Amino acid sequence: MSERSTETENHQGADVQKLFCRALHQGTAECKASLQKGGSGPAADGAKGRAGDPVSPPIVLSSVFFLPGDPSGPYQYARWSNPTWTALEESLSILEDADSAIFPSGMAAEAAVLCSQLKSGDRVLLPSDAYYTSRVLAEKYLAPAGIRVSTCASTDYDKQDFSGFRMVWVETPSNPGLEICDLRKAVTKAKEAGAILVADNTMPTPLGQRPLDFGADIVVSSDSKSINGHSDVVFGHVASRQPGVMAAVRDWRKIFGAIPGPFESWLVHRGLETLEVRFDRMCNNAEALAKRLREQRKVQQVKFPGLPDHPAHAVAKSQMLRFGMILGIVLSDKNSAEKFINTCKVIRPTTSFGGIHTSAERRARWGDNVPDGFVRLSVGCEPLEQLWSEIKVALDNL
Ligand code: PLP
Repeated sequence: MSERSTETENHQGADVQKLFCRALHQGTAECKASLQKGGSGPAADGAKGRAGDPVSPPIVLSSVFFLPGDPSGPYQYARWSNPTWTALEESLSILEDADSAIFPSGMAAEAAVLCSQLKSGDRVLLPSDAYYTSRVLAEKYLAPAGIRVSTCASTDYDKQDFSGFRMVWVETPSNPGLEICDLRKAVTKAKEAGAILVADNTMPTPLGQRPLDFGADIVVSSDSKSINGHSDVVFGHVASRQPGVMAAVRDWRKIFGAIPGPFESWLVHRGLETLEVRFDRMCNNAEALAKRLREQRKVQQVKFPGLPDHPAHAVAKSQMLRFGMILGIVLSDKNSAEKFINTCKVIRPTTSFGGIHTSAERRARWGDNVPDGFVRLSVGCEPLEQLWSEIKVALDNL
């Protein structure tokens, strides 16, 4: 049974549930109906499809489409568009309530945003404590192209002056330190400065936090995490309510050729269909474990935005619908952390997060600025009491 007393305001919760339900039914049905008509529009008998239509969207592997005469129609060449992409993009667009374009990884989605929106002479601000490959991309490829890259700790965004920046990037909660950036404040300051506000919303997903509703210009997501959820696909998407932004992002994808495979797109579509139930279980488990772990003698600290002692709990509560599935647990040192991760029977020692299996890793092993004993625990969908009893055994054995 789930244990929930870490309350969120949940004011948008019902709306998001409605969006999810529409994404589940309308998105695929409309696309499927459109596929049956060769991509030329919804079926005459409405979005439900016709007798004999497949319920699951077909995986279309064709690289070319019949294209006699002057080119026309939605599908011409598979680097430009593909019906299986459309099925997923329609579902994501309904859930994000914004046009969405898919990519073969979260990093490809990030690259599409950075490269299509910035030009030489522009300045971009990135969090110094968030997903490190975003900074590597900016420093290794954007800086030599004349884009000035600055960084700032997530906790200092409120103080940071945004003037002169063309783009401000936020990631909240930050990976791996679980710091919170006030999205409303960041959006207001970015608008005053004339900057584009991009939010990496990988960790919370559109079910847990909705930066576009606060006025963010663009959302990027690594769908390799919870959106697919089964640790079997690397994937990503970009969402925005600004047609110009999405046209530029799609053009970048078409020209650079960073395109997702139809099978991967189909897998993510299938994963997305269970996101709501998986996410609910993972968040409930994480909230319950956070409270129990902080009572454990061997645990020095539990970092989780849902705990009232998180320094930015009030901000997290005001902008998140759920607090997510990631806990930062600080154990005494590197050896204890490694022993905990590698001996606990229900923890898979892997990088990444958001999968159905609970997993964990010591982030200092990659050079992240966290204590040696810091364990990033990605709480999965296992039944809570089984999860807890194995975690307790592993802690007691340290
Ligand atoms: N953004 C965040 C917050 C991430 O954690 C990751 C990967 O771990 C990425 C982006 C990159 O995503 P991908 O590995 O799908 O390229």
